[in-house]
Amino acid sequence: MTEPIETTQLYIGGKWVAPHSSQILEVFSPATGEKVGSVPLADEVDVDNAVRAAREAFDSGVWRNTPPAQRAAVIRRAAELINERGGEICALVSAEMGATPGDVATLQQLAGTGVLNAYADAADAYEWEEKRTGLFGESLVVREPVGVVGAIIAWNVPLFLFCNKFGPALAAGCSIVLKPAPETPLNANLLAEIFTEAGIPEGVISVVPGGVETGQALVDHPDVDKITFTGSTAAGRAIAARCGDQLKRCSLELGGKSAAIVLEDADIAASAPMLVFSGILNSGQACVAQTRVLVPRSKHDEVVDAMVAVASTFTPGLPDDPETKVGPIINDKQHAKVTGYIAKGKSEGATAVLEVPAPEIGTGNFVGPTIFTGVTNDMTIAREEIFGPVISVIAYDDLDEAIAIANDSDYGLAGSVWTTDIDKGVEVAKQIRTGTMGINWYAIDPSSPFGGYKKSGIGRENGREGLESYLEHKAILMPMGYTS
Ligand code: NAD
Repeated sequence: MTEPIETTQLYIGGKWVAPHSSQILEVFSPATGEKVGSVPLADEVDVDNAVRAAREAFDSGVWRNTPPAQRAAVIRRAAELINERGGEICALVSAEMGATPGDVATLQQLAGTGVLNAYADAADAYEWEEKRTGLFGESLVVREPVGVVGAIIAWNVPLFLFCNKFGPALAAGCSIVLKPAPETPLNANLLAEIFTEAGIPEGVISVVPGGVETGQALVDHPDVDKITFTGSTAAGRAIAARCGDQLKRCSLELGGKSAAIVLEDADIAASAPMLVFSGILNSGQACVAQTRVLVPRSKHDEVVDAMVAVASTFTPGLPDDPETKVGPIINDKQHAKVTGYIAKGKSEGATAVLEVPAPEIGTGNFVGPTIFTGVTNDMTIAREEIFGPVISVIAYDDLDEAIAIANDSDYGLAGSVWTTDIDKGVEVAKQIRTGTMGINWYAIDPSSPFGGYKKSGIGRENGREGLESYLEHKAILMPMGYTS
């Protein structure tokens, strides 16, 4: 980034408007500490203005009555525009949250535009109206948008998360007011502008930058019909409680502590690179990170040696340095939390067999890939989400024990099985209480449901299930004896 982006207006209802709030939210690079830009911090009045615009647009029918195929076409166009401006967008996201532009391009742009296109496909294929015959004869089941959506997202993959909120809400015909994380508001403004350029009508979309208070104003607003939240389990619990009090629809994508289960027959050499990547992608700042690697005791040393060899090459450094594989941790607070977990791992008796040194550059918020052995599943580093590049290797004696360890977690978001016997891998995957599993790798598929069991969340994103999360199902009963 060269010059900081100083934004003095808010993007409300698809237009730049003067804020009510006089507070400013400043954004600094997690890598260098340099200023990336600033935006107005939306207050309760600004949130109200955004929700009013969204409500008016919804009630007018300007978007919800646009045929689903046309809505899908606008979403596809937005994906095209994001790809056309990919370099600029990835550079901005990289400046805001610290991942390398290359990682932003793959983990966020590719994934984000992938989900947009998948939601467009889901809207095209969806049965918006369905005739059913029941006890009293014919009914018409109609799927309608849930209304005004309030979306609150985390900073770790902001481009992907933006697309994963705008995509389904707009495919369903909803209006949406999105609150980005305070660390990453600038890319949200740019992306919202792109959606307007793609054809979203006035009033339908807004961005309200801010922190917890801005988020709470959105959650508490009586004209918001549904909250969709991606963030920590602690915040999700607080938001769900407020939604519960209002009987407001609410879906939650929360934290994880996923297990990668390496079976006896795994091809260790072939698995090691992806096993390491799945654990420390995005500097470990990933809800789906496979941070508990469960290995058969007989193969323990072989797996650990292979992982250490790979992880040693994941060089931490400044995001713009072509040698960098691991960017900085987002801020001082998270950095202290991650290094605190590493200290805790040692004090609880685990052995750090790899600690790639962190470079003393920029903000100093770097943590090198760290691999612990001698971990038992009751240790803090095996139970809590670290959100840094830290992998815990846990040895097991038989498959039943591996499955029990994988399931012994408060979380259930992701996971993987590593084996040369794919059918066996699927059988093991079916026994894990978690929302998504991969065999010999892990990725979020844009067309298949994604979400958490247990404290990893409520609801599903992606695919038909993700679209349905933004719909109400209405039954219209026909007169007795009526046949259409
Ligand atoms: P966070 O919960 O602190 O903040 C997330 C967002 O919620 C931010 O925009 C924040 O301002 C807002 N917020 C926080 N408390 C709020 C409240 N009480 N009311 C309204 N808004 C509130 O999380 P974070 O540190 O930004 O993100 C990291 C967490 O997000 C990790 O736990 C990670 O696993 C999770 N995450 C989950 C997924 C998923 O899809 N399951 C994806 C990415 C990140």
